[in-house]
Amino acid sequence: AAKQGGRNRYHRCTPELNANAQEQMKLIHGLAAALELAQFELHYQPQMDARTGKTVSLEALLSWCSPELGRVAPAKFLPLAEESGAIIPIGNWVLEEVVRQIRAWLDKGCAGSGITVTVNISAQQLRESGFVERIASLLERYDVPAQALRLEITESTMITDMRLTQQVCKALMERGITLGIDDVGSGYSSLSMLNRFPYQYIKLHHSLIQGITQSREDYIIVRMLVEMARQLCKDVIAEGVESEEQLELLIDLGCREMQGYHIGVPMNAADIVYYLKGSGDQMAPPAIS
Ligand code: C2E
Ligand code: MG
Ligand code: MG
Ligand code: MG
Repeated sequence: AAKQGGRNRYHRCTPELNANAQEQMKLIHGLAAALELAQFELHYQPQMDARTGKTVSLEALLSWCSPELGRVAPAKFLPLAEESGAIIPIGNWVLEEVVRQIRAWLDKGCAGSGITVTVNISAQQLRESGFVERIASLLERYDVPAQALRLEITESTMITDMRLTQQVCKALMERGITLGIDDVGSGYSSLSMLNRFPYQYIKLHHSLIQGITQSREDYIIVRMLVEMARQLCKDVIAEGVESEEQLELLIDLGCREMQGYHIGVPMNAADIVYYLKGSGDQMAPPAIS
């Protein structure tokens, strides 16, 4: 297609393509060494129980601080990490870092006994052999209860190799780990998957939440999803809550937990301590478990 406009057009496109390819190369090369160079960072975003206003979970969000590229968002490097298989060691690092952090918060006494941290899990990670056992041994090593961990997967994760995914989800739940389905209502989600796996909650995609105060259609879809969850005996978390109006609407609809810039931005582990202190109470036991 680049050649269609003749020679001139072709030449005009080339530098841009090169720049893109160059950035991809930088990403791929940088990513390979990033773990060893300790360039990954986790931030934690609060999730609030709509009924009590208390913080009930913190979602761990990964970012990569590259000296060359600056701070790289997960959307930029996760697809590459998934393609190259690097997601396995990176995901293992995330899990250990989170469990270690939970232990540290428990030791500081700042999180009460009800602390839970939510971790995003890629499809490959879930299907890697020994995944459940690895988590179990991490929890044991750091003396952290399984109830402190929530794992979030997307529906697209579930479509491939359904039997294995089903088994893994079941094993995780049997150990007391909470499971949620992320990004429900996004372009990639398929509702037909929602009754084939064990899990406790769905998390509504922020693109839907964004629209609920302006678009009647979005409002109706959110209402329908909340109702569906109720019928399936699942809880609902809304992500991307950015305003008081959205929050009120979601509370009215019966959403159980809220997450978004209006509730709290992602923070580093030290700031979370102040956030929890500042919000007047320690973390409450989770509504969803
Ligand atoms: P997610 O799990 O759906 O996480 C929520 C995303 O929404 C985060 O983006 C968060 O920063 C952003 N967000 C939070 N509040 C708001 C808000 O009020 N409005 C809007 N528009 N966005 C908000 P982030 O950090 O860029 O992460 C993007 C995605 O990358 C995550 O989506 C998750 O799927 C994936 N991800 C992040 N960390 C990890 C990880 O450790 N492992 C894996 N496998 N995936 C991860
Ligand atoms: Mg998530
Ligand atoms: Mg999400
Ligand atoms: Mg997501």
